[in-house]
Amino acid sequence: MILKWNGWGYEGEGIKQDKAKKILDVLSGFLGVSEKEYVEPVKLESIKIPEPRIKIKDNLDVRYDKYERVLHSSGRSYKNLVRLKRGNIKRFPDAVVYPKSKQDVIDIIEFCSNNGIGCIPFGGGTSVVGSVDTYDIDPERPVITVDMKSMSDVIEADVKSKTAKVMAGITGPNLEEKLRKFGLASRHYPQSFYFSTLGGWIASRSAGHFSSRYGKIEDMIESLEAITPKGIVRNHGFPSTACGPDIPRIFTGSEGIFGIITEAVIRCHKIPEKKISTSFLFPSFERAAECARNIVQNGVFPPLIRILDEREYMISSVLSGNTIESGSLLIVGFEADEENQKVVESEFEFVRRVCQKFGGTDEGKKRFEDWKKEYFEQPYLRDLLMDFCIIVDTLETATSWSNLINLYKKVKEGMESVIFSESIGGVSCRITHVYESGASLYFTFFAKAKFGYEEEFWWKIKKKASDTISENGGTISHHHGVGRDHKIWARKELKDSLIVIKAIKNNLDPKNIMNPENLID
Ligand SMILES: Cc1cc2nc3c(=O)[nH]c(=O)nc-3n(C[C@H](O)[C@H](O)[C@H](O)COP(=O)(O)OP(=O)(O)OC[C@H]3O[C@@H](n4cnc5c(N)ncnc54)[C@H](O)[C@@H]3O)c2cc1C
Repeated sequence: MILKWNGWGYEGEGIKQDKAKKILDVLSGFLGVSEKEYVEPVKLESIKIPEPRIKIKDNLDVRYDKYERVLHSSGRSYKNLVRLKRGNIKRFPDAVVYPKSKQDVIDIIEFCSNNGIGCIPFGGGTSVVGSVDTYDIDPERPVITVDMKSMSDVIEADVKSKTAKVMAGITGPNLEEKLRKFGLASRHYPQSFYFSTLGGWIASRSAGHFSSRYGKIEDMIESLEAITPKGIVRNHGFPSTACGPDIPRIFTGSEGIFGIITEAVIRCHKIPEKKISTSFLFPSFERAAECARNIVQNGVFPPLIRILDEREYMISSVLSGNTIESGSLLIVGFEADEENQKVVESEFEFVRRVCQKFGGTDEGKKRFEDWKKEYFEQPYLRDLLMDFCIIVDTLETATSWSNLINLYKKVKEGMESVIFSESIGGVSCRITHVYESGASLYFTFFAKAKFGYEEEFWWKIKKKASDTISENGGTISHHHGVGRDHKIWARKELKDSLIVIKAIKNNLDPKNIMNPENLID
């Protein structure tokens, strides 16, 4: 299967034609979009690409061809895709290397170090914050992108302790398939699951849709190994330790600037035999959020708990062909097996009682199933809409419960003010992860844009949202990371703690070859 160089997924995948037509019909009423506005993406052949400026050792799996260099020129943010689709891209890696072993990684880093070449670790390339983009790197500096997907095995598993040592280039489906042989599962399911990798999850501090129970990726890593320009860093894994700072946590969120993560020992779980799920409709988003706060502050953490605000629920109903009802939808999912079924059922009953107390009405499993089906389809929908000059993008933050609704309203109003000052569109939101002290807010925005003005308009909306988040007590990212796109806000958020990150960077990578100009300057 061949990955699309300018879109989500493999060649031949996408929204089926009849569904696409239905969606466009709905949009024609709402956004005034018609089939006439279709803009055909440029062909790969028409993209001009300079000759590579470097030649790497022959014993490595190196690719210099156009497809590989264009595919690896950026991640999968709206900005990345609109540039690729319009052929507006001028910077490419000089070479793409697929290491097959640790020795290959050592050789690549040594080659880059000796020659002052930029080295970008690349997992699935699904970053949405510019963290694998070549564009902003000094054009005079050659760059190699290191695609880790040839290092993708489960090395060993300790079934009794439920841990597994895994190579960093493994993608979600491959990891699940290999863990299944040991009766284990990671339960880490980001929406990008099919294409993103363990190394990318660690380097970006990823969250999956079961993270409210099992934790984000940083909670799942017991130990890791990384190869840096200064040598190999590895820690001994324990269930817990007080032996100095937490080394895996130093590498989680490092976004490739310290070195290349080659493997990690991950904490796994039993494969659930049974899933229990339902949904509750609330009169308002605020009420549903209060309900979720009560659930988790009473010590019950359903693996999946999400709240769609009124706009998001309406869009979800339209896309799945349901009748449109007003309100905010809380969806909840538990996992059980024979041994713990009774415990899980009592937690489920507790959730039901709290939801009813807060005015939620049980909508049953169907709304949950509709949401699930649509969840992995959404990135393909974004691709389709981009071809009609509709901006669709998402951004996320987290804040305390006491600030949650204030931040939600301010970000939504801020983005809407920019959208409506120039065009038509909308903003929706969902709570994706809940904690005892707060929750994450995940916004989706869409707007009709003039052809050729899409990126500029997108940036105006995104900048407004990011400024508002930064000024109103939210983090610039709950799980997408910093990359190159969020650097200005991250600098404000990290403040004095930047000296720690810079000290580690300067020590491990004194020549600044690892993912230059990413995360920090
Ligand atoms: C449609 C869509 C849905 C998404 N959904 C989610 C979601 O639900 N949850 C979520 O958390 N994120 C999500 N993301 C963002 C993205 O998928 C995550 O950030 C993911 O963790 C990136 O993994 P990757 O393997 O694709 O990494 P890449 O995009 O290849 O790289 C991301 C960063 O990690 C570094 N890196 C990659 N591999 C290594 C390595 N082995 N060693 C050192 N550094 C490395 C790169 O240099 C870069 O800085 C989504 C993105 C898209 C486009």
